[in-house]
Amino acid sequence: MAIERTLSIIKPDATRRNLTGKINAKFEDAGLRIVAQKRIQLTMAQAGKFYEVHAERPFYGELCEFMASAPVVVQVLEGEGAIGKNREVMGATNPAEAAEGTVRKLYAQSIGENSVHGSDSEENAKIEIAQFFSEADIAG
Ligand code: ADP
Ligand code: MG
Repeated sequence: MAIERTLSIIKPDATRRNLTGKINAKFEDAGLRIVAQKRIQLTMAQAGKFYEVHAERPFYGELCEFMASAPVVVQVLEGEGAIGKNREVMGATNPAEAAEGTVRKLYAQSIGENSVHGSDSEENAKIEIAQFFSEADIAG
């Protein structure tokens, strides 16, 4: 399988509970390399743009407020099949449906406050990475 890069975000519910290291350990244990990382405070405008695809969903406003409610850690993960592998490590969107040992099963608080984001396709990974990092910020 090809080496891929994916955008990961450790969300405010997790940064508030000081879980960045524990979540990063899950990524590294799965063979994903953290090749870029920064802790930032999203504005409402940035959160709104990032989740624009969900603008028509009833939870969009609440989701943007949550994402701007505390710092997030944005990161680029790299590895073989990184996009799918990260989705596996994350677990299902709803923690009640997430498999044992996944980040969301272990740490998510609800379907909205679910600790992590991960890109869902190669196309979206490229778009999402470019929202936060330039090529010079990424050292693979
Ligand atoms: P994923 O993050 O697993 O790719 P989606 O792309 O479907 O999931 O949704 C984006 C984010 O929107 C979710 O991670 C979660 O934070 C939030 N979300 C999704 N569904 C709901 C819902 N029914 N109620 C509240 N928030 C939701
Ligand atoms: Mg998604």
